[in-house]
Amino acid sequence: MCGVAGVIQVPSKASLPGNKVQTSSASLVAYQALLMLQHRGQDGAGMVSYDQECGRFFDKKKLGLIAQAFEREDLERLKGDMALAHTRYATVGGDGIQDLQPMLAGMPFGVALAHNGNLANMIELAEEVQSKYKIKFLTRNDAEVLLQLFCYFMGRERGTNGNFNFEMAVSSMKEVVAHANGSYSVVGMVADGGLFALRDPHGIRPLLLGRKVEGERTTYLFASESSAIQFLGMEVVKNLAPGEFILITPEGQVLTADVGGKEAAHCMFEWVYFAGAESVLEGQCVYSARLELGRRLAKKISGRTFDVVMPVPDTGRTAAGALAEALKIPYREGLLKNRYVQRSFILNGQSKRELAVSLKLIPIVSEIKGKDILLVDDSIVRGTTSKKIVNLLRMHGAKSVCLALTCPPIKHPCFYGIDFPVQGELLMANLSQREAADWVGADEVFFTDTNDIEAAVNGPKLCKGCLTGEYPTDLKKCHSFALERGKVREKAEKKI
Ligand code: SF4
Repeated sequence: MCGVAGVIQVPSKASLPGNKVQTSSASLVAYQALLMLQHRGQDGAGMVSYDQECGRFFDKKKLGLIAQAFEREDLERLKGDMALAHTRYATVGGDGIQDLQPMLAGMPFGVALAHNGNLANMIELAEEVQSKYKIKFLTRNDAEVLLQLFCYFMGRERGTNGNFNFEMAVSSMKEVVAHANGSYSVVGMVADGGLFALRDPHGIRPLLLGRKVEGERTTYLFASESSAIQFLGMEVVKNLAPGEFILITPEGQVLTADVGGKEAAHCMFEWVYFAGAESVLEGQCVYSARLELGRRLAKKISGRTFDVVMPVPDTGRTAAGALAEALKIPYREGLLKNRYVQRSFILNGQSKRELAVSLKLIPIVSEIKGKDILLVDDSIVRGTTSKKIVNLLRMHGAKSVCLALTCPPIKHPCFYGIDFPVQGELLMANLSQREAADWVGADEVFFTDTNDIEAAVNGPKLCKGCLTGEYPTDLKKCHSFALERGKVREKAEKKI
């Protein structure tokens, strides 16, 4: 899971090739958009720009947070009217700077690409590409697999078709889509050819297009969430459809094609946890969905009385407010977040997660001591976080602690970019509700169900693979399906 942004500045009226328009810095727009996507990945950030004037790419990558990755001088150096930016949440590949995106390839034309998602068939696809097309990978990142495949097919087309053009890009992307299995929301650019974006055939990860017209200049922005577009005062043009490919040329033409769209299966976890509460995905407000999940969760609570409803900050807060309202129980903030510690779930590695949990929440003892607490959080994955928080409340004098989760029990791994571990590590894959309560040290646990998720998101067709074990893509032939996530990563690192 990651955040992506792609920017191009073009003449407001589609013009003849070669006509130029005064641009500000595309990299500055991409940087500002990326700041709104920081919650989608904190391992590292990267940016690539292209300046048509001098015909050069510029890039900058750094491990860590976005604000630390780019200085003012970097943005000045990242010249041009096209830019891609990416913030990384590592699920596949290494932790080093070489695995940060966007990725660049010189042949053919010069292409840069970044994506948000995860190729479930990364291992077999990389093996096939290496042996069949004689492509050597320089990183262990699935973005490079997508990039190299796209470049390979464009190179093949160029032999018969000459210069870069939309038809060539479409037929090459159709080949990429035919080979790739998983989730991928891609932004990219071709030197002198334009900015492009692609959403996988099920639209698992979000991707939107925004636009702002300022006199003779129009700025287009592809971004993972609507908040990045609206933050910049732009209008949201659309959510890309599943399998949709868009190219925006330097002259301002917006060209679209379906390169293999199938039935939508948008990740339900975006509304539950991952996306910013202020975002609107597929026309459905994340905040409203979380409110509704809170109301629906309230209906699952029975047989107990509570002094307070208490959220686990930050994602539990919206639903906790609605739940407290529905049950007519006071809402209290008994845990404050230490803003200088990263989200614990997003960190890879159990020890990093445990350390983050113990550092990130500060208790307000007066709101905890002697109280019967209904604690509201978004989900239980491994149970580590819940166990620590329940323990923290008990340590500070809570009389009883029940745990209410807005996500139904997660029983199956995710192969599409959320770092749910092997099934054996998923708490609810192995325990009953009663056993889970005992394991985390709670008096009881309460969950919503899959119908509640559908009703709260209210419309978009959803992927619920981690809840039901039914996935939108055919995973039977993927090594990862047989091996499961943890072992896949191990194997991918050895082979690629
Ligand atoms: S399996 Fe779960 S977390 Fe993964 S994409 Fe589907 S709904 Fe989202």
